[in-house]
Amino acid sequence: MSERWLSERGQVLEAAKELEWLGLVAVSSGNVSVRVDDGSRPLVVITPMGLPYARMTAADVVVADFEGEPVEGERPPSSELNLHVAIYQARADARAVVHTHSINASVCAVAGLEIPPIVDEMVVNLGGGVRVAEYGFPSTRDLGDKAVTALGDRKAVLLRNHGLAVVGATLEEALAHCRLVERLAQIFLAARALGVVHELAPDVVETERAIYLMRLRAQRDAGS
Ligand SMILES: [Zn+2]
Repeated sequence: MSERWLSERGQVLEAAKELEWLGLVAVSSGNVSVRVDDGSRPLVVITPMGLPYARMTAADVVVADFEGEPVEGERPPSSELNLHVAIYQARADARAVVHTHSINASVCAVAGLEIPPIVDEMVVNLGGGVRVAEYGFPSTRDLGDKAVTALGDRKAVLLRNHGLAVVGATLEEALAHCRLVERLAQIFLAARALGVVHELAPDVVETERAIYLMRLRAQRDAGS
């Protein structure tokens, strides 16, 4: 295996295995990437297409350009490369993107239910409620563009009838957001089943969002 992007390929592999261990992805569903730069252009270090996580090694993790042309690695990149690239092109703060099919987030995505601001840590970390993107066919740029539109300046978006996509300034942050959204979706669905969902008060959301935006600006400045 080439020496280039070795550490990033290892980090992507570890993150993918952790997601599977946490039950947020299964077999080969979902995908993980980080954005790197070779000095002249941005590249994406991403899990390969269709390979079960249990058998995946760092050598299977692919480095590709934004058009999907391979730079390192023998395997084709994840079929959702377009989703990752669309997010990286729209968001200078995005250094990592993770896409999962976690159950509770997927239930909200299927029901077309935005997860409203219901827990304090949500707005500070994700920027507000988690919206549902318009439907886009898997693997297409259209799916990526619709995800970007619904994502706005937030850290997570539900992909209608599909799953979840999250953004992180680091891979660690993106993994934490995947866990947070799944927990929020579970809380929201349970409260909704009880028939009572009290959202955070608008002034609280406003204050927490101001904190979020301050951090986001710093991440954007560091990432651009
Ligand atoms: Zn998917």
